Amino acid sequence: MPVVGLTQGELLQRLRHGECKWVPTTLAGLKDSLQSAGGQPPDHLDLKQAFQLTRFTPTMAHHQILIVGGGAAGITVAAQLKRARTALDVAILEPASEHYYQPGWTLVGGGVFSLEETRRAERDLIPSGVHWIQAAAAGFDPDHNSVTTSTGEQLSYDVLIVATGLTLRWDTIEGLSEALGQGGVCSNYSKDFAPYTWEAIQAFKGGNAVFTCAPMPIKCPGAPQKIAYLADDVFNQKRLQAKVIYATATPGIFGVPTYAAPLREVVQRKGIDARYNHVLTAVRADQKEAVFKVTEGEATREEVIPYDLLHVTPPMGPPEVVATSPLANGTGFVEVDQFNLQHVRYSNVFSLGDVSGMPNSKTAAAVRGQAPVVVANLLAHLDALPLAATYDGYSCCPLITGYGKTIMAEFNYKQEPVPSFPLDPTKERWSMWWIKRKVLPALYWNRMLAGAQHERRFIPGVKA
Ligand code: FAD
Repeated sequence: MPVVGLTQGELLQRLRHGECKWVPTTLAGLKDSLQSAGGQPPDHLDLKQAFQLTRFTPTMAHHQILIVGGGAAGITVAAQLKRARTALDVAILEPASEHYYQPGWTLVGGGVFSLEETRRAERDLIPSGVHWIQAAAAGFDPDHNSVTTSTGEQLSYDVLIVATGLTLRWDTIEGLSEALGQGGVCSNYSKDFAPYTWEAIQAFKGGNAVFTCAPMPIKCPGAPQKIAYLADDVFNQKRLQAKVIYATATPGIFGVPTYAAPLREVVQRKGIDARYNHVLTAVRADQKEAVFKVTEGEATREEVIPYDLLHVTPPMGPPEVVATSPLANGTGFVEVDQFNLQHVRYSNVFSLGDVSGMPNSKTAAAVRGQAPVVVANLLAHLDALPLAATYDGYSCCPLITGYGKTIMAEFNYKQEPVPSFPLDPTKERWSMWWIKRKVLPALYWNRMLAGAQHERRFIPGVKA
C-alpha cells in the first residue's frame, strides 16, 4: 500500500526506521496498486506526489535481531551485540520516551535521591547504530518470526530477544489503585509514587508503619524491606512512637539462607514486627486498614492491620502480550533454558531480564550476568555453532539495612554467596552503602547500558 499525505521528512524517518522501503515503480504500476488497495488513482500527479507515491511503500520491516523492550536488559544486550559485531542489524521495540534507573527508587523513597536523578531520555541510551522503533509489541508470532506492534506494523526478524520486564498488578489488590499516593499509602515500585514514600515517611507522626511484600517473583525481592529499615531509622531519629511491621507473603525474611541470617538479626535489633506468609488482599483507605490473607500450615485466615503509613509492594507478572503468546511457559514468563537462555521451543528466540523464565532473583545485576551469555549464544546460533555460554544465576541485591549500612548480597542459582569483594559479604558495611549510593548508579549509566562487561571480572580472585 503506497504512503500518502506524509512530508518528505516523515517519509525519510520511516525509511530510516525500516518502516518503509524504496520501491521504484512506473506510473501505471502505481495507479494499479492504488486501485487494488481501494484508493482512487488521481487523474494527474504532480512531481512531488509521484515521488512520494512511487518511492516509498510500507512493508514488513525486517531486522536481523529484534529486541522487544528497551529497559535495563534490552539496552544492555543491544550495546553488547554492537560491541561484538558492529555490522549487526539490531532494532529495539520500546514505547517509552524515558528510562529510569529503578534500583535508585529505594533511595528516592528514602529521601536520598530525587526522581530526576534516576531518569534519562531513552533516545540518549539507544546504542549507536541500533534502530529504535517507538512502539510496543502487541502480538508475537514466533512460528512466522514476526511481531505486531501497537501501531499495527509487522516486524520480522532472524533472531528475537524478549526483554519486556514485569507489569505491576496494583489492580489485584482491592482498593489499592484508589488509595495510592495519598493518606500515607505509598510504593517505591513506581516512579509515580516513590517520591510520595519520602513525603509519607516525613509526615508520619507515629503509630503503625506497615511495609508489605508480594508473592515471588517480584523485581528486587530485597527492596520491600530496605525501605522499612530506612523509615525505621527516620522514626528513631525523630523519637516517634512507631511500630514498624514488615508483612511479607514469603515464609522467611530472604530467600538465600546466608543472607537471611544477618537480616533476621537486623529485624531483631530494630524491634521490627516481621510477619510471614501474609498476602495483602485489600486496602480500606477510609478506615486506614490493610487486609491480609495469612497462611498457617494448611489453613488460611484473614488479618486486618490498621496503618498510619502503608508501603505496598504490588504483585507483578509478565505483560499480558507475553503471557498469552506461544513464547510463554505455564506461568506466563518466557520459556528459556535457565543456563543458555535460548527458548526451549524456538531456537531463534532468547530472553533475559525480569520477563525471562529463569529461577534467578530478578535484578538489574542479574542482567549483567545474563547479557554476555545471550550475546555469545545468539552469535553462536547465527554461526550455526553449539551454544557454549552458561548463566550461573548470578544476582546481587544491595540490602540497605539503614542509612549508611548495606549488606552486599551476591549469589547464584545454588544460593551460594559469590562476593565481588574480599570481605565477609554477610556484614553490614558503610563501604557497601557508599557503593550502592555512588558507584552502582554510575556503573549502570556509563558501563552497563554502554555494553561494558561486569566489573567483577577485573577483581582478582573473583570468578565472573
Ligand atoms: P525493565 O528495566 O523494567 O525494562 C522493561 C522495558 O520493556 C521497559 O522499558 C518497558 O517500557 C518495555 N516494555 C514493556 N512492555 C513492552 C511491550 N509490550 N513492547 C515493548 N516494550 C515493552 N535491581 C538491582 O540490580 N539492584 C537493586 O538494588 C534493585 N532495586 C530495585 C528497587 C526497586 C524499587 C525496583 C522497582 C527495582 C529494583 N531493581 C534492582 C530491579 C531492576 O530494576 C530490574 O530487575 C531491571 O530493571 C530489569 O530489567 P528489564 O530490562 O528486564 O526490565
